[in-house]
Amino acid sequence: MPRANRRRRDDPPDVSRLGGTTSTTSYAGGLWTVRRLSGAGSTHPYRCPGCQQEIAPGIPHVVVWPADGVGGVGDRRHWHTGCWLRRDARPAGNAYR
Ligand SMILES: [Zn+2]
Repeated sequence: MPRANRRRRDDPPDVSRLGGTTSTTSYAGGLWTVRRLSGAGSTHPYRCPGCQQEIAPGIPHVVVWPADGVGGVGDRRHWHTGCWLRRDARPAGNAYR
């Protein structure tokens, strides 16, 4: 008998579900979509690529993805707001991966 309510671990990205407000900025030679999140919808921690520390659930932060890249929103990363604002202080090639 098949399991009726198996959870999908790879739900397709749905930007509208993230909430918050979106802007576009340039970084590392590309255009990036930046969405500010209240964190209220967070249910699990994310790894910030700026400082390699976890962003705890419920903490306001930003989510960033290539505005003109192939990966699009599927290649998004969650950053601490402060780490994103200080991204230019980091080597561009290493800050985003
Ligand atoms: Zn950080």
